[in-house]
Amino acid sequence: MNFMEYCNIVVNTGTKATDRLFTYKIPTDLYGKIRIGDKVVVPFGKGNKLLEGVVFEENSEDSVKNIKGMKSIQRLVDDELGLSGKQVDLCKWLKETYLCTYSEAIQCLIPKFYSDVNTKTKKIAIINFDPEDMDSIISKMSKNAYKQIEVLKILSVAQRMQVTDLMKVGKTSRAVINGLEKKNLIKIIEEKEYRTPINLDKIERDEPNKLNEEQLLAYNSILNVIKRKEHDTFLLHGVTGSGKTEVYMHLVRKVINRGEQVIILVPEISLTPQIVGKFIKRFGNNVAVLHSKLSLGERYDQWKKIKNNEISIVVGARSAIFAPCDNLGLIIIDEEHESSYKSEMNPKYYTIDVAKHLCRQSNAVLLLGSATPSIESYYNAKNGVYKLLELKNRFNNNPLPSVDIVDMRIELEEGNKSMFSRSLYEAMKESLLNNKQIILFLNRRGYSTFVSCRSCGYVVKCMHCDISMTYHHKNNIAKCHYCGYKSIVPKVCPECGSKYIKFFGSGTEKVEQHVNKLFPSFKTKRLDIDTTSKKGNLERIIKAFGNREIDILIGTQMVAKGLDFPYVTLVGILSADITLNLPDYRANERTFQLLTQVAGRAGRHDFRGHVIIQTYSPDNYAIISSQKQDFKEFYNKEIELRREFCYPPFHNIINIIVLGKDENLVVKSANRLFQKLESEILNNNELENTQLLGPNPAIHNKIKGFYRWQILLKYQSIDHEIIKGIINYICNINKGKYLDSKVHLIFDLKPYNIF
Ligand code: ADP
Ligand code: ZN
Ligand code: ZN
Repeated sequence: MNFMEYCNIVVNTGTKATDRLFTYKIPTDLYGKIRIGDKVVVPFGKGNKLLEGVVFEENSEDSVKNIKGMKSIQRLVDDELGLSGKQVDLCKWLKETYLCTYSEAIQCLIPKFYSDVNTKTKKIAIINFDPEDMDSIISKMSKNAYKQIEVLKILSVAQRMQVTDLMKVGKTSRAVINGLEKKNLIKIIEEKEYRTPINLDKIERDEPNKLNEEQLLAYNSILNVIKRKEHDTFLLHGVTGSGKTEVYMHLVRKVINRGEQVIILVPEISLTPQIVGKFIKRFGNNVAVLHSKLSLGERYDQWKKIKNNEISIVVGARSAIFAPCDNLGLIIIDEEHESSYKSEMNPKYYTIDVAKHLCRQSNAVLLLGSATPSIESYYNAKNGVYKLLELKNRFNNNPLPSVDIVDMRIELEEGNKSMFSRSLYEAMKESLLNNKQIILFLNRRGYSTFVSCRSCGYVVKCMHCDISMTYHHKNNIAKCHYCGYKSIVPKVCPECGSKYIKFFGSGTEKVEQHVNKLFPSFKTKRLDIDTTSKKGNLERIIKAFGNREIDILIGTQMVAKGLDFPYVTLVGILSADITLNLPDYRANERTFQLLTQVAGRAGRHDFRGHVIIQTYSPDNYAIISSQKQDFKEFYNKEIELRREFCYPPFHNIINIIVLGKDENLVVKSANRLFQKLESEILNNNELENTQLLGPNPAIHNKIKGFYRWQILLKYQSIDHEIIKGIINYICNINKGKYLDSKVHLIFDLKPYNIF
């Protein structure tokens, strides 16, 4: 047998400077025992400090044998936290693709890399005598020990109980329980605990539904590829309520029956309780739900079960893409257009790209689902990169809701200064009288307010970028966060001359106040970050709404997703303009998506839905297309604008963030870097139509004491590899030449929040 003798290891030194592969010799007693991905302890540096590392690859070059003083691996760490070969490959890909460090890549894949995460144990109290002797034992105890007696009585019934529970039930302290242990009346043992975050006892199960014709068509196309064990990507474009989830579940059943694993991603677990619930009902404890509220220990338990193939189905948000499924057959990304699939932490990965890589690795199928696909995904589908599948009708052919657009400029003209148009107010009254429920939507998420004319709808936009300018209160200026252009805020509207230039900023709280005033006898609840930060609140509000204990639900994006309640017949969108005027080239796309999603909450079952969109820009194409719920019409307009203004998918954007604690140093480095990039790009004959913007202070200019400046690169998508090569050459290989060692760089490919 040929055993691995030398290998290259990523050592966890904690510094970026040593983030590379180091070669080590494998001692003879570990021959044949060390595999790629294993965790090992190695001596490192001058002092031969013992550090942990991960074996990344074999080094079979002859030259290594002649290296004098080559260090040996000290020992193998057998804590089940190693990586598989496929995961090591994924780490290399992450580093290569997102220009991150090895450690950052590894941290995505191992829950809390290198830290000593032990399986949680729980302490159990067990009664240590025959319960029949209870009375005689109590009679011998002192009267002062009444607390101990109380505990014994509880335990004699329960026989065994977790110590923490016993303390709660007995309303007593740990000291009392310890006292009983000393008297040998109870035993306390430690038990290993697999923490299941779902309480399966209470969950009713359901059976697969028979698919309708459209569903069956989509299902069969995908199943054929799964059966052939080939890699392919599908885009399932299905209107809201068309039954995409049922298609997913049928496919999942097939894949797990083949002995393979499935990852299902949703934008955010807590916002999509209904879809998660459907999977649990259908597949029971074969489902691991990974969500951000899991403790480290819970996460670790789930991780191990998935790794050991004890669980076949993983449901989670973005980071669940890194679940250790070694036997992947299918990845489903629901609501694939959602921005939450882009990571804002390092590596700043884009989940769909990671999923593609994983599926390629395992010959698995990637299924993207949405009622409003992202422009880029749909462009890929149109161009044959993805296979397009469509569900054109709502399940059971329920009609889509009727949508009215209300021009708020006219409301104002005619003397209505309230945030409710007359038609929305009337529709609310009617709904409430008919005992139906209402969702009111106002998207206040986002950093900036925009500046707009209330009379004509004019929005202050950057003359260079066609993007809304952000109002800076401090200097009283409007600023483009894209190119840095500044202008004064006009006092009168440059379009119509009116004085009604306003900063827009009403939030859900104000809406709630008004609704309570208008409809005091009806029950109103608000669903946004402020009302749901406490654990359990979100679930409670959604449940109460489902039970019709709430008449009017007011919320941000949280109400836009996944809610499926039969008595909701009216959806009111208070201001479509908030999203429309976000300083982002995706503003129209996001508006179309959001309006369509929110509108899709109305009339999903027996009662016809009605949607009212209030806006100051009733002629905007995103709003008009969302009124018709016509994705294709919207796409055709939007894709032409993207082409014209050089935005994705035709052009790519990379954001390079320069950060450090010394502001002067950061600014100097950013400038030097900019000049270097500029000269490399100008001198490259292969590059055409490439723009370098900046350096500008980032919108969050200072985070945790670090100053941040950014340089934006905008280039033709086909030039991606050349550009990445240039960045890698300047920013990684020759970083020392151009940048002070106290300055760091972060790379953001396909950035979502640069503004
Ligand atoms: P989407 O995910 O496309 O918005 P859902 O999967 O939530 O749509 O389906 C909408 C409704 O139709 C749900 O109440 C769902 O249970 C029901 N439904 C979908 N497919 C079927 C089917 N084949 N048989 C019975 N009911 C179905
Ligand atoms: Zn105006
Ligand atoms: Zn600009």
